[in-house]
Amino acid sequence: MTFEEFGLSPEILQAIAAMGFETPTPVQVEVIPRLLKNRGDMVALAQTGTGKTAAFGLPILHMLKHDLRSPQALVLCPTRELCVQITRDLEAFAAHTQGVRVVAVYGGADIQNQLRALKRGVQIIVATPGRMLDILRRGRADLSGVERVILDEADEMLNMGFQEDLEAILAQTPDTAHSLLFSATMPRHVAAIARKHMRDPEEITVGHLNAGAETVSHECYVVHQRDRYATLKRIADYYPDVYGIVFCRTRQETQTVADWLIRDGYNADSLHGDLSQTQRDSVMKKFRSRALQLLVATDVAARGLDVTDLTHIINYNLPDELGSYTHRSGRTGRAGKTGVSIVIINMREKGKAHQIERMINTEFAYRTVPTGREICGAQLLNHIARMKSVELDPKQIDRHLPQIYEALEGMSWKEVIQRFVSLEFETLLKYYQGAEDVRPDTGDSRSPARDGHQRRERPSGKGQRAERSGARLSVNLGTADDLTPRKLTGWISRAGGQYVRIGRIEIMDRRTVFEVPVDEAAALAQALGNTSFDGRTVRVEAAGSDRPRKPSGGPPRGKAAAKGKAPSKGKHHPSKRKPRGR
Ligand code: AMP
Repeated sequence: MTFEEFGLSPEILQAIAAMGFETPTPVQVEVIPRLLKNRGDMVALAQTGTGKTAAFGLPILHMLKHDLRSPQALVLCPTRELCVQITRDLEAFAAHTQGVRVVAVYGGADIQNQLRALKRGVQIIVATPGRMLDILRRGRADLSGVERVILDEADEMLNMGFQEDLEAILAQTPDTAHSLLFSATMPRHVAAIARKHMRDPEEITVGHLNAGAETVSHECYVVHQRDRYATLKRIADYYPDVYGIVFCRTRQETQTVADWLIRDGYNADSLHGDLSQTQRDSVMKKFRSRALQLLVATDVAARGLDVTDLTHIINYNLPDELGSYTHRSGRTGRAGKTGVSIVIINMREKGKAHQIERMINTEFAYRTVPTGREICGAQLLNHIARMKSVELDPKQIDRHLPQIYEALEGMSWKEVIQRFVSLEFETLLKYYQGAEDVRPDTGDSRSPARDGHQRRERPSGKGQRAERSGARLSVNLGTADDLTPRKLTGWISRAGGQYVRIGRIEIMDRRTVFEVPVDEAAALAQALGNTSFDGRTVRVEAAGSDRPRKPSGGPPRGKAAAKGKAPSKGKHHPSKRKPRGR
C-alpha cells in the first residue's frame, strides 16, 4: 500500500514526502481509507509512536472545507506537549495546502492568544480537555460545525481525570460528527466512553492488543529493594550511550532519583508536575537536544514528549496502572529503530511482571546486574568503537605527529594502549575494582547485596545516609578550584605515596568529601595536609559528623539551588560522562 493509493491530494503527498514518509504504517493503512470513506465511528487500539497523528490528520486535512473558517475537526489529547506536537504535525502535513488553519488550545499558556486565534477563524482545534472546556464555557468556540472528533490517548485522558470535561465537551459536538478514539489499552472507563458517545464503533487493533512495538525488547532485573538505585546506575554505566527515560511512580521519587543521578555525575534531570511550565520546557529542550542522556519522569509529565530515537526506557518502579507500561515502553523502538524497555523489580513484584508479560504477550528476558568487570569491559569497547569511528583530520594532526612519535619512542604499541586505557579509565576501573556485585533478589532477605562504594537507595528520600565503605575525609577544594575526580585521585595517590583505593567522591563548589579505607584515613589526612594543590593551602579533616546535605527527595528546584543546597552537577562520576554530540 502506498500513500498515493489512498487518493490523498497532491499537496498532502508532497508534504509527507518532504517529511520522509515513504510507506504508510499499519495504523495508517487501517485508519486512513476508513476515514476518507466516512465509515462511521471507530475505536483504534494502537501504541504511541505508530503514526497515529498522520492516520487521523491526513484524512482530516484532505476532507477539509477550506472556504469555511469554522471548526470542522476537534482533536482532544491529554497534555500540552502532545497538543503542541499534534498541531505541529498537522501544520507540516498542510505545508503545501493553502488556507488551513489549526489552533492549539492548552492550559498553562496565555488564553488570550488562543481566543484571538479562535476568533480569526480556524478549521481544526487541537485541545487539552480542561482548556477546551474553559473556552466553551466562555462561549468563545462554536463546535456546532464539527464533523470529526478525535480522542487521542483516550486512556491517558481518563487516567488524568478528564472524564467529566470530556463528557461536557462531547455534549457540545453535533450528533452527526464522526468520532475516532485512540487508546493503547482498553480499560473499562475507556470502553464506557466509547459506548456512551460513539455509535456502534468499529474496533480495530493494530498489532497485538496492548502489545509493545515489536522493535522493543523487554528486560527485567530482579533485585533487592535497597539495590534499585545501584542497579539503575550500573545499567547506565553498562550502556554509556544510553539515551532514555527513567520512569518513576511519584513526583518525589522522580526528583530524588534525578538528584542522585546528577550528584553521581550523569547527564540527567527530572520532569514532573511540581516543576513550572518554563522549567519543564527547558528540561525537555535539553533532553531533545541530547544535552541530557537520562530524563527521570513521571508517566504524566512524559506524555507527548516526542523523541523518536530513545535507546532505553527504564522502569525504575512499575506504574500503579500496569497498562501504562505499554505507553512507557512504546516511547522506544520508534520510527523503525530498536529499543530496550528495562524493568527493575524486587522479588515481591514478580507477579506484576508476569501480569505485564501476559499483557504484552512477550516474556521478559531476565538479566543479572552487570558486574564491575562487565561494565568496565563495555565502556572500554564503547570507547574503542568511538575511537575507530572518529573522523580524522590529517591536516590538523599530521603537523604534530613527529613530536608525538618522538615522545613515544621506545614504547611498544601494547604499552601505549595500556597507558591510554589507564589514563581514560583510571577512575572507573578503581571505582569498580573490588566493588561487590549487585545480586539478584531470590526472596532470601539475608542475602547481602551491595554496590561497592555506592550508597543505597532510600526511595522516600527521608533519613538518607550513605553506605559507608570507609572513612570520609573533607578537603577545602572544589569545582571552584577546578578539582576533578581524576585530579583528586592523582593528588591523593601522590600524597599517600602509593595507590589509595578511593570510594565515593562528592565534589561541591569549595569543598569535597571522599571516602578512603578506614585504616589509611588518619595517615592520609596528615599527608594531604602537608601538601598544596595548585598552589593552594589545603585543609583536610574528617567529615564523619559533618555530612554535606543530600538531595532529599523533593526540595523545590529553584529554591534549593538558590540556597546552594542542590548537589553539584555532573562533576564526579567515575565514568566521566559528557554530553555526547550525537
Ligand atoms: P505518532 O504516532 O503520530 O506520534 O508518530 C510517530 C513518529 O513516526 C513521528 O515522528 C512521525 O513523524 C513518524 N511517522 C508517522 N508516520 C510515518 C510514516 N508513514 N513513515 C515514516 N515515519 C512516520
